[in-house]
Amino acid sequence: MDSLRLPRPELEDLVPYEAKDVKVDVSLAANEHPSNLPGEIVEKLAKRLNEFEFNRYPDPTAGKLRGLIAEANGLEPENVLVGNGGDELIFDILLSWGGPGRAVLDAPPTFAMYAIDAQVTGTKLVRIPRGPRFEVDGEAVLSRLAEGDIDVVMLANPNNPTGNLIPETLLIDILNATDALVLIDEAYFEFSRHTMRPHMSRHPNLAILRTFSKAFSLAGLRVGYLLAHEDVVRELTKVRQPYSVDSFAQWVAATVFHERVVFHESIGDIMRGRDRLSHGLSAMEGVEVFPSEANFVLFRVEHASALWRDLLHGHSVLVRQFSRTPGLEDCLRVTVGSEEENERFLAAMRDVLSRRRASAILGGSVQESKETVGELGY
Ligand SMILES: *Cc1c(COP(=O)(O)O)cnc(C)c1O
Repeated sequence: MDSLRLPRPELEDLVPYEAKDVKVDVSLAANEHPSNLPGEIVEKLAKRLNEFEFNRYPDPTAGKLRGLIAEANGLEPENVLVGNGGDELIFDILLSWGGPGRAVLDAPPTFAMYAIDAQVTGTKLVRIPRGPRFEVDGEAVLSRLAEGDIDVVMLANPNNPTGNLIPETLLIDILNATDALVLIDEAYFEFSRHTMRPHMSRHPNLAILRTFSKAFSLAGLRVGYLLAHEDVVRELTKVRQPYSVDSFAQWVAATVFHERVVFHESIGDIMRGRDRLSHGLSAMEGVEVFPSEANFVLFRVEHASALWRDLLHGHSVLVRQFSRTPGLEDCLRVTVGSEEENERFLAAMRDVLSRRRASAILGGSVQESKETVGELGY
């Protein structure tokens, strides 16, 4: 036949994820760690690389890594599920607790994967928008939950891309108000140091997501994990791909987790860098900075998409733009980089803004950018 039957209609208005590979000097767009794995860890791995069994299928339970994570969190291995990045676990949650006829609640602007995965799995998406300072509208969430039809709640804490935390009292109210599976996405836990872990014993519907991609320099390897009630883990194990976390990733992540004290120093550097970026940006005229508990800073500036383009083409500095995201008009997000990268970014910002002022005095106008490349990535 010379025709192709249509796929599921739900996919029609989804845009395929096309990560364009932009080569830049200073890449501050994806909330990655600025440094590669510490040399001492790479050496340790290198020494044992020739014994590594590339020919064998991985342990589907990621037993070694799972045991280490469970122990560090005072839990049993049955309460831990390792995934191919946190992203896979978000998807698995919607495969098992979502699906046609079921509903997920989120609080935009927030992490885009919740909405994308809802659409892919045919789950109804109920969005309760955040307020002007990106605070979660507790009253609206609680009254929506009271209707009783929400099956999953997804809240990033701290939120990406806004950087703020949800008050713990509100999270407890939410857990008390529903038997829906409540995912608290703690992808930035190592920077915020806030966790809902102490509430797990009282709330079997609480699941906590963490990742090796942000604080532990492993974004390239795709490892994340979930802390949850053993019944939640068991259900997710039914839908997940058994070999999604490859044995190399399991080995490296287990080594990194075992040696994780090594990261204390760089995490401290990143938190100081975040304060430096926040202060530097606040000192610039026309820039509004939002407080952050993560490894990035969100800010608002007039003609943000033009500024984004000038940073990229004039200074080879890539940040993330959100000009098309409702609630984030004229917002850019910069990931905390190395000290040198942070200074280059701030200098580039000062340069672009001062050129803009000079051209405004001469009566010029700012050309908006139509490029979309900065909208991609995490
Ligand atoms: C980065 C991120 C994740 C997961 O990232 P992975 O690389 O898939 O582990 C999950 N949630 C939020 C809010 C994130 O920013």
